[in-house]
Amino acid sequence: MEIIKAAHLGFCNGVKRAINVAKTHAPCLTYKELIHNKKVVDGLKNEGIYPVHDLSVVKSGDNVVIAAHGAAPSDFEKLARIGANVYDATCPMVKKVQEIVREYSTKGYKIIILGDKNHQEVQGICGFSAETPQIAADFDEISLEDGEKFAVVTQTTFFEEKFEKIKEKIQNIISYTHKIVVFFNTICYTTMAKREEAKSLAKRCDAVVVISDRSSANGNRLYEFAKSINDNTFFVSEISDLQSVMISKYNTLAIMAAASTPDELIEEVLSFMSDTQNEVLENATENTATEEVTEVATAAPEAGEMAAAADAPAQSAKTELTMDDIMASDKAAGFTTYREGKRIHAKIINADENGIFVEIGGKKDGFIDKSEVNIDGTYNPDDFKAGDTIEAVIINKKGDSTYVTLSKREIDLVKKNDEEALKAFESKEFTVEPPLKIVKNKEGNPVGLEGRLGAFTVFIPGSQIRIGRVNNLEDYLDKKLRLRMLQKNGRRVTASQRVILEEEKAEKEEAFWSTVVPGAIVKGKVKRFASFGAFVSVKGYDCLAHISDLSWKKISEPSEVLELNQTYDFIVLKADRETGKISLGYKQLQKKPYELAAEKYPVGTVIKGTIARIHPFGAFVQIEDGIDGLIHVSQISHKYVKEASELLKEGQEVEAKVISFEGNRITLSMKELEPAPEEKPAREEVAPEAADGAESEVKSKAPRAPRKKFEYNPEKAEERKRDRRDNSDEPHEWVSDSGNATLADLLKGIDFKFDDEENK
Ligand code: SF4
Repeated sequence: MEIIKAAHLGFCNGVKRAINVAKTHAPCLTYKELIHNKKVVDGLKNEGIYPVHDLSVVKSGDNVVIAAHGAAPSDFEKLARIGANVYDATCPMVKKVQEIVREYSTKGYKIIILGDKNHQEVQGICGFSAETPQIAADFDEISLEDGEKFAVVTQTTFFEEKFEKIKEKIQNIISYTHKIVVFFNTICYTTMAKREEAKSLAKRCDAVVVISDRSSANGNRLYEFAKSINDNTFFVSEISDLQSVMISKYNTLAIMAAASTPDELIEEVLSFMSDTQNEVLENATENTATEEVTEVATAAPEAGEMAAAADAPAQSAKTELTMDDIMASDKAAGFTTYREGKRIHAKIINADENGIFVEIGGKKDGFIDKSEVNIDGTYNPDDFKAGDTIEAVIINKKGDSTYVTLSKREIDLVKKNDEEALKAFESKEFTVEPPLKIVKNKEGNPVGLEGRLGAFTVFIPGSQIRIGRVNNLEDYLDKKLRLRMLQKNGRRVTASQRVILEEEKAEKEEAFWSTVVPGAIVKGKVKRFASFGAFVSVKGYDCLAHISDLSWKKISEPSEVLELNQTYDFIVLKADRETGKISLGYKQLQKKPYELAAEKYPVGTVIKGTIARIHPFGAFVQIEDGIDGLIHVSQISHKYVKEASELLKEGQEVEAKVISFEGNRITLSMKELEPAPEEKPAREEVAPEAADGAESEVKSKAPRAPRKKFEYNPEKAEERKRDRRDNSDEPHEWVSDSGNATLADLLKGIDFKFDDEENK
């Protein structure tokens, strides 16, 4: 049987570091177990290292080591108050999670920790949050109800696939809301490397043995993970567990161990197996581990950072390990990937006319062909100095090739596209090229549209496409929407066209109401007719011109005056922003009938008309439709006429002369068209006989002053007429009118609305 020993076996660097710190400061207490392995913990007691779970047992002057899993700030404060000597051996990767929690909690984000609520690492992380965080083992345990901004972190040993699934589900939920959720994949690299290797070995081998203490979460998860791939996976916490495993029936068997498994136990298991004449091989893990490539904010370092630490000395010799130390250790163990599409910072070895040779931190070097250097195809080897760092992406991994081929041009393109896209997102308006695609929720219902801008996915919720409901998303698949970013989550952007449309509508409204004020003359397009008036669009706004405001004459249809789709000048009669109602007048901009009549029938004109009405004081003559003139009784004849009906009757056609035009009153005279009567000679008067019988004396009466010829003075005539009229029941207006309803009457029950034509 062939036994393959995993490359990542035994204590992780975090645990190694904590044990070293404790040994350095022994005798000491450790706050909780340094490691989840009873044998190791018992062994450490022999070296004066005792775990405590309750800090009240600590005394002033005691050396206390904080384990790799870390502790809450309140624990540190308690130890400081006691006066203990504290040695913090929190793993740098755990510290990173704590820092993220502290930072985002301070920024007002609600914290969600994906992990085991009973694990001391998670309990310690909780202490860094201002508010009690949510701890969830799965999506179902998460609530986004109470808050707008959330930051999600993971326990360092959380499952990556599970994290991705939870992230996806949360993103789906928040895509319909304005909530912000930032994700931090804080799973430690050692854990990921172990799992990647476990996946590979579990697939490749007939059986897997996971060596771990049963209390180790790390070991249990490793076992579950391997078991999910290979059913012949066995958990071994001591040699006796192996005796029940019929290992001899397998041709290949993989050996793995948790981060807390001591080397001694691993050696024990391996020697047990080699004793059975099996061949033990080192797993040649040709860079099977993956690196976190996440689209959201992440704590994962770039591969280049790992490569930079390639020459780090062995960690076991150091008391204090840094994050770089741990990563360098991983790198030294072969944790480097040549995965296509991976971005790396590479060190230039040499540049010649063919391209650039770079060191990428693995077993192979990289090569950037000259065509893959710059976007514009140019290349000058002198621009690239040995020792400088260059960012590139792996474009092809050839197993039999000497070099890993890379492209700097693609990185530059992505950066350029990213810069342009980010600039667009920050602008007030951007667009994505159609065709768009419909996004459906898990029930299969369409919820919005999706397009691409550079490397970003732009999601437009259905409610954000237009003002009002969208009935059919398919209508918008080929449309170039005008968008504004609402939210950005990694490479996923939520955008809205509606906010732009609403903003424009508000601007139009503002401009409209500041110019459309009573008395203003506006241009309006007739959109439709109703029995009570015409709806007129003024700058896209629906206004009403009531039928009584369309003509000075009485009309029965608005179409008698206006034509559909024609544009006319209107006067604003009323504009009420609160109710949104605007009433327009058309007739007010037209000449009144009597103004026209004044031009057509100036004083002195002889008109023909029909007697329309007769009153004692005179007769009204209809000159034309809507225009009447009055022949006062004094103007009918030179003879004395007591009442107009003496000489005139209704329906009679007459000729008359316009003798005055005042306001809307036309005064006519028939008398003016007749010759004036001749002057009579002065009458002789006979003096009465004298009483004494004396001869009567015929005396001429003293001659009268000759009668003044009558001259018509229209002003005086009018004045006299006014006096008479004011003392009679004569109507004051005699130009026909269309009848005046009040504006309030006219506007009753009419709904004013903005034209939504531009709101597409
Ligand atoms: S975070 Fe990773 S490296 Fe650190 S102690 Fe935990 S398993 Fe070890």
